[in-house]
Amino acid sequence: MVLPGEDDWKRQVIERAKELDHEHRRRVRGAFESSTARVLALRLLRQALRRLVSRPRRFDTREVPHPLPGHIAVTFVGHASVMLTTRRARVLVDPFFGEFLLGVRRKEAASLATADRADTSLILITHAHRDRLHLPTLRKLPRRATIVLPARCQSLVQRLGFARVVELQPGQSFEHNDVEVTAVAARHDGRRGPINRAWRPSCGYIVKCAGANVYCAGDTAYFSGFEEIGRRLHPDVALLPIAGYEPPGMRDDHMSPLDAVQAFIDLGAKLLVPVAYGSFPVGYEPIDEPLAWLVDLCRQRGLLDRLFVLRPGESCDVHGRETSAP
Ligand SMILES: [Zn+2]
Repeated sequence: MVLPGEDDWKRQVIERAKELDHEHRRRVRGAFESSTARVLALRLLRQALRRLVSRPRRFDTREVPHPLPGHIAVTFVGHASVMLTTRRARVLVDPFFGEFLLGVRRKEAASLATADRADTSLILITHAHRDRLHLPTLRKLPRRATIVLPARCQSLVQRLGFARVVELQPGQSFEHNDVEVTAVAARHDGRRGPINRAWRPSCGYIVKCAGANVYCAGDTAYFSGFEEIGRRLHPDVALLPIAGYEPPGMRDDHMSPLDAVQAFIDLGAKLLVPVAYGSFPVGYEPIDEPLAWLVDLCRQRGLLDRLFVLRPGESCDVHGRETSAP
């Protein structure tokens, strides 16, 4: 069924996506020549080799207490892992505590207090990639927890013995203590890896508690779904990935900071918290570039007061329309 104005809306989204492509082409030195690709591949290799001999940077780890009813604490654990703490729930999103990913050593260590890890009651997995569904990390989490995954992923965790395993399709919801989790669409290939090529979907989640709605996008490219998620589910806080944009083909599955800023505007969220940067190289771009570019973009567009950059182990407290660092 075509709703009134739907064609206009589709045209606007297509136009916006074209504008983003154009801006990226200008930035990424015009057409991507094979020699440029080789240079970038060498840069990635050099970064990875350098990482092998330097230990990951460690951050202070503090326990995050359960907040008052109506509040939600958002804690950046590192890479794409986030902890959400409400009065009655402790939620880990895409937990990854490993030091290596596919042989590459991380730059920033995961930061999560042992007591908070043991207190985890709900685990949300956005897709089956090894930095999101990491079996050694899941083995360290309490088995009494419930784990929520996209369709076709249940078999990957079946042997771990979690109390409850729930598969959600986009649009479906699940209640847990004082939070409601709704799965939403994402544009990302969720195949587990080069050996396990079975097709698996990806999703994001809206975690809703009395105080605020937190959108965990998972991995995704820029797509028309952001505007729809904003209209239907009203996220207050958007946790958006910002790395993996060189070479340009990577933007079929990932977002650059420029894409993430547009997604944030489409969502109509109040606060942007960047994730999935700084620990592992996602694309060929230098590992520190995505955050610096994001800060620049937010400064140019008057969004700096809505950007909340958390270092591993840091939290912000969201309640109603206000946000504060603890
Ligand atoms: Zn992924």
